[in-house]
Parts: sequence; structure tokens; C-alpha cells
Amino acid sequence: MSAPVFGTHRDEGRPDFGPDEVEALADDLLALLGPRGVSSLPRAIARASRDGSGMSPILSAQDLGRPDLVCYPRTPQVIPHIVRAAVRRGVPLTTRGKGTGNYGQVVPRFGGLVMDMTSLTAIEAIDDRAITALAGARMVTLEQFAWDNGKQLWMYPSTVQSTLGGFLAGGSAGTGTIVHGRNHEGFVEALDVVYATDDAELVHLEGDDAQPLVHTYGVAGVIVGARVRVEPLQDWRSIYVSFADHHNAFTAALDLSTFDPAPRLLSADRAEVVDALPSDPALVRGRASIRALLDARCVDEVCDRLTAAGGRVEAVRDGIMQTVKMSALSYNHPTWWLQKAHPDRYFHMEVRGDALVTALDAVEQVYEGGMLHLEMGHEMMFGMLNGIYHSPEQVVAGVPELEALGVGVHSPHQWYVDLDADRVKAIAARTDPMGLLNPGRWM
Ligand SMILES: Cc1cc2nc3c(=O)[nH]c(=O)nc-3n(C[C@H](O)[C@H](O)[C@H](O)COP(=O)(O)OP(=O)(O)OC[C@H]3O[C@@H](n4cnc5c(N)ncnc54)[C@H](O)[C@@H]3O)c2cc1C
Repeated sequence: MSAPVFGTHRDEGRPDFGPDEVEALADDLLALLGPRGVSSLPRAIARASRDGSGMSPILSAQDLGRPDLVCYPRTPQVIPHIVRAAVRRGVPLTTRGKGTGNYGQVVPRFGGLVMDMTSLTAIEAIDDRAITALAGARMVTLEQFAWDNGKQLWMYPSTVQSTLGGFLAGGSAGTGTIVHGRNHEGFVEALDVVYATDDAELVHLEGDDAQPLVHTYGVAGVIVGARVRVEPLQDWRSIYVSFADHHNAFTAALDLSTFDPAPRLLSADRAEVVDALPSDPALVRGRASIRALLDARCVDEVCDRLTAAGGRVEAVRDGIMQTVKMSALSYNHPTWWLQKAHPDRYFHMEVRGDALVTALDAVEQVYEGGMLHLEMGHEMMFGMLNGIYHSPEQVVAGVPELEALGVGVHSPHQWYVDLDADRVKAIAARTDPMGLLNPGRWM
């Protein structure tokens, strides 16, 4: 079955539960966690009903769901008890990190319990290979901890404040992906998980056993902690180069895709998108931009190449603050800033392939007002194609046109498990036999 461009509401997979089960679970959680550990107050419910899906006008127009209860575990040991209680009462359980996922995949489709992991922030260990932390640790905190120990994370997303568990369960790529691929491609060394069974307990998974739970939206297990890869810290420089013509900028970005040593991050935008980014003298209004994290040893050579391609070097900066700042201008963030500058105007599609650059004008013309944000990915370019929004039908109609140009498309307007769904379904049948973990994620 080909992937749908947007999600449609169906009751399929809805667990059979009601107010009595919710009330009984609330009592169980009160006994387990105390009065501060569980809430059904409107503010808590509203907060747990939101995520980054506001970026999609298609998802924003729908009622994606809302929990009946939210709980706030403060120790990893209590998680199996919470999961057992939800299983005993037959109430669905959706695990929540920072709530920045942009497909609505953390909003509980059928209600039930949301478990907020953001208090579980401990970083437990680091060695030459990996860092071990609880699921609520922030990605930026892990990167800082790694730098303090002469290491760097293999990768982290542009939503740098998001959680380790959320990035592993709901994210896919980020700073470092050019070299290391996506988060399900070897980043994870081990996971501590809890399955939704009536005898739930902490289960430790190593290597190949852990990988299949990555990018599964928590439907096959709750991630309580993880060990993820680090590598020796490199001496990074953040470079900002502006261009009068975005064609030159995008072509120069593609030319750098074979550069050795590879950048840790490379993003390119046309002037209209740059104009929407936060004010910075290195982001020159009215000019296209390339931003890259480069090994200090190759800054001069890359700057020479970009200058020869028509660019003007605006800034070369160093230090972790600058690295993180540049990361937070990558991936979905330029779209986010564009939408902030022009509310209710734009939507975006996730697109990939060198055709983004080699057929740039044709790609941008697929949607009215089309503007590409480009990232250098792992062995291919990818990006976000922004366009003026009219209707879901208009969004769908552009997909075959993009594909005919040789562009791969992934829709950010649907909430289904989108990585190897059949395999995930088979795992979940064993680890969540009652279908209680974040239900409603199968297309
Ligand atoms: C502007 C913007 C930019 C973004 N940039 C990127 C990017 O560069 N790269 C990228 O990959 N993503 C990106 N995202 C998507 C998202 O921000 C990231 O994937 C982020 O890492 C998710 O973490 P979170 O803590 O916010 O997770 P949440 O949004 O809370 O959860 C995401 C999913 O994981 C599940 N989950 C959360 N914690 C656990 C757990 N402990 N165990 C099991 N399941 C769990 C949730 O149920 C949900 O399905 C972006 C989103 C926005 C809005």
C-alpha cells in the first residue's frame, strides 16, 4: 500500500474503555505517584494535546485527540508499575517527551493516559563509544555533556530541547546525519524498555534487538533509557555564506556533497526564507544563504569554493553555542520561521533527491509560491518544499508531479508509523497484545 498523504480518522484500533476505567486508573496512579504525579486538570490536558503538528494546516484543521489523564513519573523504576496499571484497566497509554513531534504522533488519538517523561533527565555514563541517559534527557544537554568529555553525539535534531526518548521514538535525523545516517541506522546501542503486558518490567535490549524500536512512535514499547553513539569531538566552525542568486547557493551545496571531510551539517535557503529567520548579521536580508558546520581544517578550502561559486563569506564562528544555534536553523526550522513570519499561508512537504537541485525551478513550480529549504542528507540531498496552502487536494495533487521529476516525497501531514510498519506491527503484537500503546498509528 502506498503511503497516504494525509491521515484520516477511523475508529479502527480504538481500545474499548470508558470513564469507569479512567477513574480506576486515576486512583491507581494517585496511589503510585501521589497527587502531584497525575492530573486531569484542563491545563495539563491541553498541554498534552499539543505538539509540533501546528506546522501542518491539514493536521491543524483536525481534532487529533486529547488525553483523559496525564502522569509525571519521576523515577525509571515506577514506569513498569504505571504501564501495568494501564494494562490492568485497559486504558491506552501514549508516552510523551517534549511534544515537538510534527506529525501529531504524540497526541493520543483515542484519549487515555499520557505519560510525560520530561522529569527523567539523568545522564548515567559516557565512554569512548556511547552515552547512556534516561529518556527525558534533552538532546542539547547530551551534546553539551559529550563536549565536556571530549566527545560529540553522532546526531541530534534541530529541536535541540527535545528528549532522547522522543528523538529515538519520533524523530529521524539531524546534525551529524550527513555522516551517520538516520537515527535507526546504528545510532542506538541499547535501550531499556517497558512492554505493555500485565507483568510489565524493565527490559534491556542490546544492538540488533534494540534497533527495531527506533522511530516507532512508542507503539511497541516505552523507552525508559538509551545508550547512543558518540565519537571524538572535532574542532567545528559554523560558516555563513550569502549568495545573490539561490540557484548558485543550491548548486554549490550539491557540489559540496562529495567533500571530504564531510560537513556535520549543511543547509541552504533562498532569500525569502532567509528573510524570515531570526535576525543575525550573518543572515543577510535579500540574499540566499548556505550555513555549514565544517571541520576547522577545511574552512579555507570550502570558503574558497563557495566564493568561486558566487558566495560571500559573512561569518565564521566557533564554540558549542554557535554549533547548536546553527543546528536550530536546520531541518524543519526554516519552515517553522517562515510560517511564523506569514501565519496561515504555507504548508510543506518533505522531499529528497539530487533532482531538488538539478531540477530546482521545476520542483519549486509544483506548488504555488514554492520555496525549497535544502539540507545535505546522508548520501542524498533532501529538504522541505514550502508552498502556499489552499486545500488537502492541492497538496496531494503535487505528489505525482514531484515524483515525475525524480523527487522522493514523504508527507508530514499524516500520523501513521512510516518506517517498516509491518515489522513494527508484528513486534507490537507481542509487546503490546492489547494494542494500548499510542493506538491508531496503522494506515
Ligand atoms: C520546527 C521543528 C523542527 C524539527 N526538526 C527535526 C529534526 O531536525 N530532526 C528530527 O528528527 N525531527 C525534527 N522535528 C520533529 C521532532 O521535534 C523531533 O523528532 C524530536 O526529537 C521529538 O522529540 P520530543 O521529545 O519532542 O518527542 P515527542 O514529540 O514528545 O514524541 C515523539 C514521538 O515519540 C513518542 N515518544 C516520546 N518519548 C517516548 C519514549 N520515552 N518512549 C516511547 N515513545 C516515546 C511519542 O509518543 C511520539 O509518538 C522537528 C519538529 C519541529 C516542530
